[in-house]
Amino acid sequence: MRENEWTKLLGWPGYRVYRHEIDEHGKTLKLWVRRKRGNRKLVCSGCGRKLTEACDIYQREVRDLPWSEYRATVVLELYRVRCPDCGLKTEKIAQLPSKAPFSKRLEEAVGLACESAAVRRVAQQFGLAGSTVRAIDLRYLERWAAARRKPALRQMGVDEIHLGKKQKFLTVVSNLETGEPLWFGRERKKETLDEFFEKQLSSFQRSAIRAACVDMWEPYRQSLEQWVPRCRIVYDKFHIMQHAGAAVDEVRRAEFFRKGGAAREVVKGKRWLLLSRWVHLNTHKKRQLNELFALNRRVMKAYLLKESLDRLWSYTYEGAMLRYLKSWIDQLRWQRLKPMEKLARMLLDHLDGIVNYCRIKIPMGVVEAVNGNIKALLRRGRGYRDLNYLLLKAQRLAATKTEFVAFRKAA
Ligand SMILES: [Zn+2]
Repeated sequence: MRENEWTKLLGWPGYRVYRHEIDEHGKTLKLWVRRKRGNRKLVCSGCGRKLTEACDIYQREVRDLPWSEYRATVVLELYRVRCPDCGLKTEKIAQLPSKAPFSKRLEEAVGLACESAAVRRVAQQFGLAGSTVRAIDLRYLERWAAARRKPALRQMGVDEIHLGKKQKFLTVVSNLETGEPLWFGRERKKETLDEFFEKQLSSFQRSAIRAACVDMWEPYRQSLEQWVPRCRIVYDKFHIMQHAGAAVDEVRRAEFFRKGGAAREVVKGKRWLLLSRWVHLNTHKKRQLNELFALNRRVMKAYLLKESLDRLWSYTYEGAMLRYLKSWIDQLRWQRLKPMEKLARMLLDHLDGIVNYCRIKIPMGVVEAVNGNIKALLRRGRGYRDLNYLLLKAQRLAATKTEFVAFRKAA
């Protein structure tokens, strides 16, 4: 094979192969490339200024996509330029996106693979270390984020994710219209959300925010009132139903606390069953729940109350919603279900934000979906120490999903 055929196969615009080496035993291929004769435009890697004079040549070796069974490396001739602004700098070329020893298209391939597989799998596939794959993936995501337009924030979601005993909580701010997470903060204090408003948004951007879906959590409300006083707070279904689930669980624990033997066996592992909606359970699970209810009517009552609270969001008129909530609270009388009474008081204290659901059109289920995506990533990645990486990953996940939907619609 002649060198210009190698050049065609490599397909790096502006570069030609002038030497190659094949190691059949080690299954490696090495190509030496330099600029084609007409390719004289140099770009400063510091500022992007175009220059014509090169002052020095040196070589760099990078991994490229594999050729069949061969692991390929490319040795490039690169120029150093004397930039009037930056001084002596290396030139910038499209095929080398960073200082790391990988070609752009290899990084793109690794990044793309990381979208649908765990780092461990991708590392195996490309014969790279896990830490290298993570670093490549992060750069891939950073390049994607830098190149795209960020949509305006008009409706925001604020949610917290429980990370575990050590790291505790993560505050997640998301854009409800695009369904993507925008920012992560450690902990869930007022100061946490303050930081988002102060550092991430200009006062103009803050004034564009019309509504915020949040949990009934005082520190968040205080922060919202301070930074975006004109924004309507909506206490959404997802968060309220989380509280309802927690109340049912509290009833279950109180009821079965001192019970032993057979009763304990029936209750065991039923926590998530009680948190599930009845309509989502199969016959077997429904039977399991019925066994539990036969043992304890109070747990059943609490479960039914949780189930009926869900219907609150089927009303679109304020008056009807309020009437339904009142009748729901009336059912609590004489039941002596303390956790449910506590929930009712909480709902009454946040009535305005609950009824705001009828006043503002807010996409439902977005906060829940964002939350679910992040939890799925956390499970798959076994703990992201780098929050920025986790955020980019979750943003990319949200964006590629919408792209996919848009594509499907067009087709
Ligand atoms: Zn420069």
